[in-house]
Amino acid sequence: MKISTLSKDQLALLIKLLIGNDNQDLFREADKARREVYGDSVYLRGLIEISNYCKSDCYYCGISCTNKNVNRYRLSKKEILSCCKNGYNLGFRTFVMQGGEDNFYNDEVFCDIIYTIRNTYPDCAITLSVGEKSYSTYKKYFESGANRYLLRHETANAEHFAMLHPKNQTFENRRRCLFDLKEIGFQVGAGFMVGSPFQKIEYLVEDLFFLKELSPQMVGIGPFIPQKDTRFKDFKSGSLELTLIMISLTRLMLPNALIPSTTALGSIAKNGRELGLQAGANIVMPNLSPQEKRKDYALYDNKAFSGSEAAEGLEILKKQILNAGYRTDMSRGDYAK
Ligand code: SAH
Repeated sequence: MKISTLSKDQLALLIKLLIGNDNQDLFREADKARREVYGDSVYLRGLIEISNYCKSDCYYCGISCTNKNVNRYRLSKKEILSCCKNGYNLGFRTFVMQGGEDNFYNDEVFCDIIYTIRNTYPDCAITLSVGEKSYSTYKKYFESGANRYLLRHETANAEHFAMLHPKNQTFENRRRCLFDLKEIGFQVGAGFMVGSPFQKIEYLVEDLFFLKELSPQMVGIGPFIPQKDTRFKDFKSGSLELTLIMISLTRLMLPNALIPSTTALGSIAKNGRELGLQAGANIVMPNLSPQEKRKDYALYDNKAFSGSEAAEGLEILKKQILNAGYRTDMSRGDYAK
């Protein structure tokens, strides 16, 4: 099946036909495509949730600035470095610093942190995920030693984007950020939620077409999960089935992509992350954040954070990966060109 040659209408029809079916053939094809590029490696990334302060108000997100029920925290440089040290000793060679859009980390403060990690761990990849910034800020991050940047596009349909965000956030700027990051030289991660409020199959097709155009090195796909303090609290979670279908189609569209089997996927189904790997994902991002802070980084309800999602659960995770038919790979795991 050559996904990348299908028209928008054909892709929409295909997705509609896949829903409600046993999609083992699709998953097998996606798995084959992934093995041709990355073999049976599942790369691990150490995730550090550096801050839950955020100036943005994404309507779906539990740490939006309007949520008064969040215990806000931010990690100091020292705390972040201690997470890296712990992660390095556990064998991690990629650190992902993710957080809300927290102005405390201005260019000077954040570049100093990046630079220090770069010099302390020259053999590690540094990934950032701190939202929309200017070209010049992204460039400074890159020059300080960061290698990769995760910024999901969330939805490639501008009207849909406007239903999920306030007026001051636009798809146009999101797109600008992603292309800027690419031009600067980052390995870039885009991606979207499955089953977000008001989503249509046609929008998911636009997501796939946008991915084809951007051709990112990484693609994060996870189900939308409601968070009780947000305006979307009464919407349903995205389905396991459709998330797996979208992971497979993305793998077939971009065979070289690094695709995480996300915590959100593991949070809606007990074996969600294993199924994600078998549908074409090849990354898992265990949590390296200080244990007592993890419950406060609650983007959605019932987020898993104490089992194999945690870096301390590494041995359990390795067994799960093995049982799913793969091998844990602790190397940097850069994009295969
Ligand atoms: N502030 C940064 C990183 C944190 S949010 C950024 O915006 O990139 C990381 C991702 O979590 C978002 O891109 C979004 O796709 C996902 N997310 C947020 N709220 C969610 C929810 N309620 N359910 C599922 N995923 C969610």
